Amino acid sequence: MNDLLYNKKVMCPVCNREIEVTKVKTKGCKVKSRDTDMCVHYEDLNVLFYDVWVCENCGYAALQDKFEGIFTRDIAAIKSNISQNWVVRSFKGEREVDKAIEAFKLALLTLKVRNAKASEVAKVCLRIAWLYRDKNDIKRETEFLNFALNSYNEAYLKERFPLDKLDEFTCMYIIAELFRRVGKLEDAIQWFSRIVSSAEARRNPKLIDMARDQYQLAKDQLAEANA
Ligand SMILES: [Zn+2]
Repeated sequence: MNDLLYNKKVMCPVCNREIEVTKVKTKGCKVKSRDTDMCVHYEDLNVLFYDVWVCENCGYAALQDKFEGIFTRDIAAIKSNISQNWVVRSFKGEREVDKAIEAFKLALLTLKVRNAKASEVAKVCLRIAWLYRDKNDIKRETEFLNFALNSYNEAYLKERFPLDKLDEFTCMYIIAELFRRVGKLEDAIQWFSRIVSSAEARRNPKLIDMARDQYQLAKDQLAEANA
């Protein structure tokens, strides 16, 4: 195995069996760059590949920081909707992009079965889009950017901020940038303008700078499209 990875034993909260999961060591998490929709690229390996843990015994899957914190009421739903049809297979060890996509789609399935909040669905869909970006599969990337966008819109309307670690203005920025990326430029411009004209958003100068840049870009793209 890649020496930036290590295995760790955890208890699966659904089937109560011990499993081994693979994590990235801190020294493997050096950031190389960030895309305008917050997708992080790393120096040595794609850390995102390892962000979903899957129980090989029962098929339960979740983002690693959410894996152990499942509600008791969801366990029965996962057992009857996922575990019953699950064929034992391991997600331990080094992952390629397709294995990572499979793990994330299992996490998405778990969220659907749990009737999870839109913000949780949005977060996983956005990361699946980034994995397709890694594969240069633009068609599927756009498909999952749209899923993420719809769920972030729903979360923005229905949920209370912060959404996990996501504050309101960063969420607005992501919605605006996803609109721009899927080609809905008028919507993107509207959302970016709400951020740049907000006095409250100015408390986060870095976000305001990014919003200004992308606002201008969206306006230029729209002008070009209408030329
Ligand atoms: Zn399990």
